[in-house]
Amino acid sequence: MSDDAADAADAGPVPATNAGYDEWVDAIADGEGYALVCSNGHGSLPPRRVCPECGSTDLSREPLDATGTVETYSVVHVPAPRFADDAPYVTAIVDFGPVRVTGVVRGIDPEPNAIEAGDELEASVGTRETDGERIVVFRPTDGA
Ligand SMILES: [Zn+2]
Repeated sequence: MSDDAADAADAGPVPATNAGYDEWVDAIADGEGYALVCSNGHGSLPPRRVCPECGSTDLSREPLDATGTVETYSVVHVPAPRFADDAPYVTAIVDFGPVRVTGVVRGIDPEPNAIEAGDELEASVGTRETDGERIVVFRPTDGA
């Protein structure tokens, strides 16, 4: 870490905590999700402040589409403790272009063939049954 106080043009002060992630979840909830994209075009998500690919700290916010396409998914019957009351459920990795976002798919039956790779899902925010924490939730689009 160097003492680089010069980059004043950026998005403003961001506390070095999870706040970046909470803010990002708020943005998703408002339909204004974004990715952090470095000058080399690598995408990442808050609370990252350094490009995971090239180490660049010059990250700008690029709006995300409301919908992405399913890259892979799995039906979870034996969850981690934080998801104990949610099982069975489907987690998916959804491709939004610059970034892939992991979330829980709702509005479907938690069965292996309920969705498939290439399906379009809409990102929103829901709460985990187990502890009420906010999580990224994907839902099927209504055939748009
Ligand atoms: Zn990069």
